[in-house]
This record gives sequence, C-alpha cells and structure tokens, in this order.
Amino acid sequence: MAQYTPPLRDMQFVLHELFGVVDELKALPAHAEVDADTINAVLEEGGKFASQVTAPLNGIGDEQGCTLDKTTHEVTTPKGFKEAYMQYVEGGWPALSCDPEFGGQGLPIVVNQCLYEMLNSANQAWTMYPGLSHGAYEALHAHGTDEQKKTYLPKLVSGQWTGTMCLTEAHCGTDLGLLRTKAEPQADGTYKITGNKIFISAGEHDMAENIVHLVLARLPDAPSGSKGISLFVVPKYLVTPEGKIGARNGLYCGGLEHKMGIHGNATAQIVLDGAIGTLVGQPNKGLQAMFVMMNAARLGVGMQSLGLTEVAYQNAAAYAKDRIQMRSLSGPKAVDKPADPIIVHPDVRKMLLTARAFAEGGRAFAIWTALQIDKELSSTDEDERKDAADLVALATPIVKAFLTDNAWLATSHCMQVFGGHGYIKEWGMEQFVRDARINMIYEGTNTIQSLDLLGRKVLGDNGAKLKKFGKLVRDFVEEEGVNEAMQEFVNPLADLGEKVTKLTTEIGMKAFQNPDEVGAAAVDYLRVCGHLVFGYFWARMAKVALAKAASGDPFYQAKLGTARFYFAKLLPETAMLIRTARAGAKPLMDVEEALF
Ligand SMILES: Cc1cc2nc3c(=O)[nH]c(=O)nc-3n(C[C@H](O)[C@H](O)[C@H](O)COP(=O)(O)OP(=O)(O)OC[C@H]3O[C@@H](n4cnc5c(N)ncnc54)[C@H](O)[C@@H]3O)c2cc1C
Repeated sequence: MAQYTPPLRDMQFVLHELFGVVDELKALPAHAEVDADTINAVLEEGGKFASQVTAPLNGIGDEQGCTLDKTTHEVTTPKGFKEAYMQYVEGGWPALSCDPEFGGQGLPIVVNQCLYEMLNSANQAWTMYPGLSHGAYEALHAHGTDEQKKTYLPKLVSGQWTGTMCLTEAHCGTDLGLLRTKAEPQADGTYKITGNKIFISAGEHDMAENIVHLVLARLPDAPSGSKGISLFVVPKYLVTPEGKIGARNGLYCGGLEHKMGIHGNATAQIVLDGAIGTLVGQPNKGLQAMFVMMNAARLGVGMQSLGLTEVAYQNAAAYAKDRIQMRSLSGPKAVDKPADPIIVHPDVRKMLLTARAFAEGGRAFAIWTALQIDKELSSTDEDERKDAADLVALATPIVKAFLTDNAWLATSHCMQVFGGHGYIKEWGMEQFVRDARINMIYEGTNTIQSLDLLGRKVLGDNGAKLKKFGKLVRDFVEEEGVNEAMQEFVNPLADLGEKVTKLTTEIGMKAFQNPDEVGAAAVDYLRVCGHLVFGYFWARMAKVALAKAASGDPFYQAKLGTARFYFAKLLPETAMLIRTARAGAKPLMDVEEALF
C-alpha cells in the first residue's frame, strides 16, 4: 500500500521563505492577526488528518467503490468514508477559510489550499465530497440571497450538509448552451425543476444529512444558448422555515457511473422530477454565478493533481532507494549487495526528478495563486484587488491544465519506477495514474482551459493580464541579472519571456485572418505559459536556496538541485512546443481526406 508523509517542510519553505506570507497577510485587515505558528500548527494537524485518517481509506475506496440501492436510490460510500467525514466535520475542517459570519474560522484561502493538497494526496475521491461543498459555499456566498445564505451557508460551513454542481447533461458537457433542464416558476416564488443531469460528483451519498445541489436550468422564456441559463439551489431534502430537514425533494440518483478512477466518489445521474428550487442570482445569468464555483473547482482540480504528483513521487523515491537491479553504468555503488539500488540509474533519476520538480513548482504556483485570491477578496486597496483578480483569472486555466497534465506524466513516471510492480494493484501506484486521468477532463477539459487562456484571458484583453505577470518576471530578471550565481536560472527565464511575447503577437496576428489559428495553437501555448510560470517560481526558489546554501541544510541543496534539473531537462520542452504552436492551423484543417 502507498505511504504518505505531508510535505510540511516544503510548504513552510514556500509560505514563509519564498513568499513571506505572514507579512503579505498583515496588509489584509481580515487576516492581519494570522501568524506563522498558527499556519504551521493548522497544517500540521491537517497533515495528520490526511495521512492518518483518509490516506488509509484510499485503496479501500478504490476497491469497493460506491453502491446504489436501486429501490431506495440511496448510495453507500466505501467503508470508513462516512466515519472519516464525521471526524473531519467534528474537527471543524470544512469551516477553515469560510466567512465567520456563517460560522467559518476566517483563515486565509492560502491555508485551505495547502490543506487540500494534503487531502488530495491522501485520497482524492474522498476529498471531492468536502471539496465540492466548499465550491457550493463560495457560489452561494457570492450570489445567494440573504435567505439562501441563512438557510444553506451555516450547514455547508459546518459540513453538516454537502454540495454539488449540476451542469452536465448527456448531450451537453463543454457546450452548456445546449442544456435542456427546465425551471418553471411557481406562485410562491420557487421553481419546479425537471431534467436529467449526468456525471454529478458526490451527487448522492450517505456521508451527510442533506445535499445542496446547484443546478443549471432554463426558464420558460429564456433565450437559447448560454445567455438563457439560470442557476438554482435545489436541496435533496427541503428545508423547513426553522432550518431543519423537511420533506424529500423531487430528485433522486438514477444511476452511478463505473469509471477508470476515483471509485470512492459517487459519480451520479441525478433525475430532477419537479424538484423545488430557488433562483440564485439573476434570471438568465446563471453561468456568471456558476463561474464562481467553476473557478474555485478549477483551482481545486489543480490541487488534486498536485496532491497526486507529490504522493506518487514520495512512494517512487522510497522504492528506488530500496529496489536493487543491475549495476550502475559507472561502476558498482552498493558493493555489499548483489546489485545497486535503481536510484543510481540516470533515467530512474530523471523520472523521479520530473515528478519532484512538477510537485514543488506546482506547490509554489498554487500557493501564490491562493495568496492572490486572498488579496482579491480582502485587500483594502482597489488597484491591488484588481491586479490580483487579473492574475488569478490568468493563472486559473494554467493551474488547472498545466498541473493536471503534469500529474498525468508524473504519476505515470512514478509507476514506471516500480517496473511491473507499479502496474499491479498492491503498491497503489496504478491507482494514482487512474485517479489522475479525470483531472484533465472535468471542470472544462484541458483543451477548453487552453482556449480560455489564449482566446479570452490573453488575446481577449490585448495581453493586459499577461503583461501583469510579464512585469513580475521582468522585474525579477532585472533584479537578478547582475547576480552571477543566478545566471543559469535568469537567462533561460528571460529568454522564454521574450519568446512568449513574440509567440502571443504572432498567434494574435494570424487569428485575425483565421480564428482556427487560436484553436490550433492553444494547447501548446498553455504549456509554454505553464513553463514560464514554473520558470519564474523555480528561479525565485533557487534564489532563496542559494542564499541559504551555506547553512549546510540539505533541504536547500535539494532545492537547488531540483531547480537545476528543471531548467536543464524540463523547461527546454518549450522549444518544441513553440515550434508546433507556430506550425499553425493548416496541417490540422487541410486534411479532410485523411480524417473522413
Ligand atoms: C468522473 C466525472 C466527474 C464529473 N463531475 C461533474 C460534476 O460534478 N458536475 C458536472 O456538471 N459535470 C461533471 N462532469 C462532467 C465533465 O465536466 C464533462 O465530462 C466535461 O466538461 C466534458 O464534457 P463532455 O464529457 O460532454 O465532453 P464533450 O463536451 O462532448 O467534449 C468531447 C471532446 O471535444 C472537445 N471539445 C469540445 N468543444 C471543443 C471546442 N470548442 N474546441 C476544442 N475542443 C472541443 C473536448 O475538449 C473533448 O475532448 C464529470 C465527468 C466525469 C467523467
């Protein structure tokens, strides 16, 4: 079975040594009192919960999956899931970064983000139950009426109830404009909702007493397409005026999907049969309201993949030190043994370091993004709020797609380190690969994230958001340009920054002639931007590590070594990606005969 040790030292490095998070938070009145000891203590406890309570359930959840009783429509989650959830609720974890007005603890998002990395390393399928609830909390917090907030937020914050997002229907996934679920207004101001949703994560289960579904549906007079979608809150059990559980609402789970991974999470078909709901936000503006939840979920999916990358790396690194096979090409290393540990072989090291560089780079990027969200939500300075919001908008598709693509590579490499033993179930490695795969698909496929980045976030505002990130890179390059020891990091970063600017302009020009040029370049473009972001954070981490290398602490040597590996072996992938992005739409679109 796989093992997991929370990477607290690296989290502390990123939070305190790289970003000076406590000083950053001091400037935000809502979090001015948060100190390093509090953050570290919370993460230590969160790490214990993840490694001791939910990690041991990961394999069980995969084996057992969820089961549906077709007569009662009730779903049973794997053994131990419910008890772990009760423990999570009793520990107050769902409330960590929620609004104190609704019972939350008011800690910054950045702390919650670290908690979620650990929960996902331990057990992605389990973590999706509280994860989706938090997204529902955010959407209702931003767009709910006072009545809806009063009814639902305290229960979502305490974890007594969980939440879902119900967007997908059989004929519409990416293109939500096609959705057909109907909402008919009733005389009492509520709506009767009828339709069939599929693929609803955590859509039915036995872990909490009520499930709060956020459902996209159409009003009778709604315009067609995505401009005619409204958002409704539809609970599994209706809520009495006193806030208690009332009658069963008109919805049920019609089936559970059998799937490649995340078996412990119930992926439910939800049949809405005149279910009573209330409108969230404005009529026909449902997508806007839902985007709060979708954006939170996109970052959440990035954290799922970061978690899997980390845990896969930990297990593969331990195995590679223990497993002996063949001798090192440069002569025996473990002379007392019949063969050397496989960690001596260059390609095994490459696989391990790839996973490590993706995990540590991803952690820095994710924590930075969370800190920008805290600024966006809590800064008293309007310009700072706007800048932070722009950076979060730019970062969101990159966190989602780059981290999930990386995790697919990393978990596969880590399985490969185990050889044939990685492919069989016993070690838990093949589960990481299977679990990681969905992250590239849901919450908007990675192709859709790429189109969002290039089409909307970059070209859509003439590169204004990208320039804000570019300025951070340029300032760093200028500052460190005179530092001899930093040249090996700063030069490739500066070079990539210039290439991204040129590539963006070139695609923008071509897109004027032919919009398919955006679609043809977007996926490669996002990956290039992912490396620009990672290059920036790896260079900054190298700077901190260089300054502390003299301390003799092996942590900093490891950080420097991983930074060097990243710049030498991973970032150069951008040369190929830029070339394929520039190859444009023609080789894809002029091939009718080949494809049809
Ligand atoms: C396990 C699981 C859990 C899920 N959880 C939820 C959930 O909780 N709530 C929910 O509402 N949904 C959920 N989903 C649904 C998920 O978000 C969708 O499957 C996903 O958005 C893709 O939609 P689709 O499957 O209909 O694929 P399609 O939209 O049919 O897409 C098929 C392919 O075409 C590509 N494509 C489509 N349009 C374009 C375009 N314009 N340009 C380029 N390529 C394009 C896509 O990238 C994809 O590769 C879940 C799905 C799964 C499998």
